[in-house]
Formats: sequence, structure tokens, C-alpha cells
Amino acid sequence: MTSLQGNPVSNGIGVGPVIIYEPFSWETSQGEISPDETEDMVLRYQQAKQKAKKELERMIEAFSTTDPEKGKIFTAHLDVLFDEVMEEEILGLIQDDLTPPDRAVDEIYGAYIHLLEKTKDPLIRERAADLRDVRSRLLRCWAGKEEKNLSSLPKPVVVVAKDLFPSDTATLDREKVLAIVTEVGGATSHSAIIARSFEIPALLGVAGITERLQEDQTVIVDAVEGRLYCDPTPQEIEQYSRRREEYLLHMSQVKKYLNVEPVTPDGRRIEVELNIACATPQELAGAAYTDGVGLFRTEFLYMGRDRLPTEEEQFQVYRKVLEAFQGRPVTLRTLDIGGDKKLDCLALPKEENPFLGNRALRLCLSHPQMFKTQLRAALRASVYGNLWMMFPMVSSMEDIHQAKAAVQEAKNELEMEGIPYSEDMKLGVMIEIPAIALMADQIAKEVDFASIGSNDLCQYLTATDRMNPAVAEYYRSFHPAMFRLIGYAAQPFLSEGKEIGVCGEMGGDPLSAAVLIGLGITRLSMGASSVPHIKKLITGLSYERAKEIAQKVQHTALAQDVRRLLQEELQQLL
Ligand code: PEP
Ligand code: MG
Repeated sequence: MTSLQGNPVSNGIGVGPVIIYEPFSWETSQGEISPDETEDMVLRYQQAKQKAKKELERMIEAFSTTDPEKGKIFTAHLDVLFDEVMEEEILGLIQDDLTPPDRAVDEIYGAYIHLLEKTKDPLIRERAADLRDVRSRLLRCWAGKEEKNLSSLPKPVVVVAKDLFPSDTATLDREKVLAIVTEVGGATSHSAIIARSFEIPALLGVAGITERLQEDQTVIVDAVEGRLYCDPTPQEIEQYSRRREEYLLHMSQVKKYLNVEPVTPDGRRIEVELNIACATPQELAGAAYTDGVGLFRTEFLYMGRDRLPTEEEQFQVYRKVLEAFQGRPVTLRTLDIGGDKKLDCLALPKEENPFLGNRALRLCLSHPQMFKTQLRAALRASVYGNLWMMFPMVSSMEDIHQAKAAVQEAKNELEMEGIPYSEDMKLGVMIEIPAIALMADQIAKEVDFASIGSNDLCQYLTATDRMNPAVAEYYRSFHPAMFRLIGYAAQPFLSEGKEIGVCGEMGGDPLSAAVLIGLGITRLSMGASSVPHIKKLITGLSYERAKEIAQKVQHTALAQDVRRLLQEELQQLL
């Protein structure tokens, strides 16, 4: 059986038929149509339109019970599709100028999109996203291609793609996806993070896989050993189906640790918190066995939608999360867009180096109105629980001053409007950029808490794009420099008696978590699937031993030796 290697970023085993997922892209026809073709072309254009209409109606029907708000978006798309002015202009181009229909659609929609994007009114500007969506649907129907939508799959499948955007992963139909296989993406890409939180086996970095597999071909995804088997025999399928059962059994045993109190044998209490993204009922169920939310990736509320969420929509979600955690901290990370996370509802210029560009806090500071909407929503929600707010991608004290000024402005506005907010809300920063880690002594005096975003910290410390499989071997979270820098940054916070935690993927990996505990960290935040593993570690590892391990690790030269050492030391606790 042919097997290929991949990076198992979300453990598990999946066996099933393949669906090759390719977001639709197009190139329009060149030249002119001949005058005697026009009638036929107009007919084909109308047929494509009817097909698009049927798809939209199906969607409206499907969402009518599950998510009527989403349904409304597609109703608006129907209006766009049947807009009379655009229709007249498209037909004019086909019949009078002999423009091929696909190019006519592209040009007319393109012109209106351009017009809408230039207006000052943000509500009108957002309509451009609707037009873009309808244009793509219409052109796909014209090209005779079927819609591939991961949010409504007809049967259980293994999703194979070159790459998945975080919005694809966040909105996929988790009941039907047996496994994910992609050509690009690293362990800390956001698709990987979401796959782990959904407990979907995922194998990334399998070169050339979309070319190699056929639609509907049965494959075995072993995202424990990191192998993909392309043409298994019935016996092999049976063997792996059994292995899958065994794996699930093992996981259910580890899950017994879910409800234990995370205290080390020598009595050190570690706060085990949750990373959440979409505030789904499944995520909020984690409130039953965790000490709070250490990272709420709020940008996921902005994804997979055509308009920016309003203040009221955000307020309702934040309030729901705060209420679910009943007084335990909920650490809301302000919008972190850019890098691998894009928004349909916000057109941003293409950048050469998006991870070093206008992302996260920088982007919010350059879009003050959008930032204010989120800050107001969060402040309004703060009276319903214990809200902590933190800023991502902070690189200087100046950034902190500007972020604080924006919060103050939002507070002033609310005060003037007589709207209450909590005076106790803590303000913190994410330590993701080495510059800020090195300033920790001063930062610890300026903010109430910090949370180490080890995913980005590793990318910026080792100068390695966390998404690029070509340099994946250089992205070493176990680099001794990572532990040295984290220890260095944590110290001033610990001395000041201020909270410092880790919310990157290192916090949920038992091997690195052991070192973090040894460095004095008492807050670890992670995806739900890591919680039982980390609680098992904590209840078996004394603080004294963790300190010794942390010492050894910081004085080891090779990242691979660090990993080996940790595996040996912690064998019984994994
Ligand atoms: C991090 O960088 O470690 C982090 C938690 O933020 P994100 O993964 O969302 O960039
Ligand atoms: Mg980050």
C-alpha cells in the first residue's frame, strides 16, 4: 500500500472517501462572440443564473431552521442576482458589444464592486462582499462546476486540499469530516488549531496530494504516525478501522482526567484554561472542567460572513461566554486579523510578508472605527462576568499606550451614554514578539497581566514562517532559546505578583507544559482536547521536578535533545 508522509497536527485516525476541495477561481473568456451566437449565449447565461438561484434557495431553506440570520444573507444574494440594472447592463454587453457572458458578468459586477468599495459609508462598502460572492457563484454556475462547500457535506469524507483558510476549517461540517489532509500549513497554523479543537484528525504538509488522489477514492489517514495510505486493501481498511477504535478507547481513558483538580503532587495549583474561537455550545461546555478562558480568538466571529459583526452582535456573544464561565476569567483577545487569517467582510491590500505586516493590533489601530465597535461591545459585556482583555501582536510600549487610549475613548463614550461597564476589567498584552519579551520588566508595570503567544513568539524568534512547510524544520518550539526567553519574560511578572500565562500551543503540549510549569508559569490555556492530557501531567509532576527539568532544558544546545530529554523524563505522564 503506497504511503506518504505528513505532519500529524491533530491526532487521530480517519478512513473514508476523498473529497478534493478547491475554492473556485476563474479566468474569463477572451475575444468577442459572433453575432449569430448571441441568442444562444444569452440563453446559457440565463440558465447559469437559474442554477445560481436554485443553489441560493436551497441554502435559504437549509438555514431556515438552523441559522435564519445566515439565511438572510442568501436572501440578499438573490436580490443581487436579480438586480434589474445590472441585468440590463450585462445583456447590453453581450448583445451590443458581443462580449462573452462570463466576461460581461465579471466586468459589470467588478464595476459595481469598485464603486461600492469607494463609498465612505461602511454599510454600503460591505455590500461589495455580497456582490463578490454572487459573482463567483454565477461564474461557477456558468463554468458548470458544482459548489464545494465544507459547511454542508452530503456524506462523511476525508477533505483533501492544497490549503484551507481558517474560515473554511471553522465553518466545516464537523460531523461529516473524517480527516483533513493538506499540502501546506504547520502545526500552529490556525487550520491546525481549529482541527484539534474539533478533534478532527489532520495531516498537513503532504506534498502534491491534490494531484495524486481522485475524488471518492478511499484512503487511510493515520494522523498519529503521520502517514497517508492511498490505495488500501479491504484488510488494511479493517485493520485501521480497528486501530481507530483502539485510539478512541485510549482517548476516552485519558479523558477521565478531565475533572481532576490540577494540583501538582507538592501542592502547586495550576490554572487550566480554555482556548475558544467561535463560542459554540461545544466550546462553552468546557466551562464544566476548566478555570476560565485563557484565549478567546474573537476574530473567528468575523469570519465566513459578508459584513462586519455589529456592536450588538458581538456584545451578545461576549456576554454569553462570560455568563457560561460564571465569574471565572474570560480573556478576550481583540481582533487578530492578518497573517493567515483573512476576512471576507474586510478588503485588505495584499502584502509581501503578511505575518510581518499590518496585522492584529496594528490593523485595529489603523481601523479605529472597527476597533471601537469591538471595544464597546466587550466593555458593555464586562458587567456580566470577569472579563480580561488583551491585545495581540504588541511590539512596543507605544503600542500599549495607543491600545489603552482606544479603550479609554470607548469607556468615555459609554459613560457619556450612561451605559455601564466593569471598572475591574484587567488589561493585558500577548507576548508574541521578542521585543516585548525583552521589555517585560517595564511591561509588567504597565499592564495587569500577560499571556505568551508561543506560536507567534516562535515564528518571530526563529525567523520562520509558521505556515511554510519548506521551513517547517526551522520552526522549533523546543528550541532552548524559546524556554530561555519565556523564562526571562515571565520573571518580572511573577515578581510583581501579576498574572502571566501561556496560551499558544506549547501550553497544551504536555512536554512543553512541564517546562513552563518549571519556569514558574501557573496559567496554561489550551484547546479542549489537550485539557485531560495536561491535567494528567500536572497531577503527576511535582513543581520541584519541573524546575529541575526547566533548568536542564535551558542548558541543552539542540532542540531535538530537548524533546528527547522531555520524552524520557515524562514517559509515565503522557
Ligand atoms: C500565539 O501566537 O501563540 C497565539 C495564541 O495566537 P494565534 O495562534 O491566534 O496567532
Ligand atoms: Mg498569535
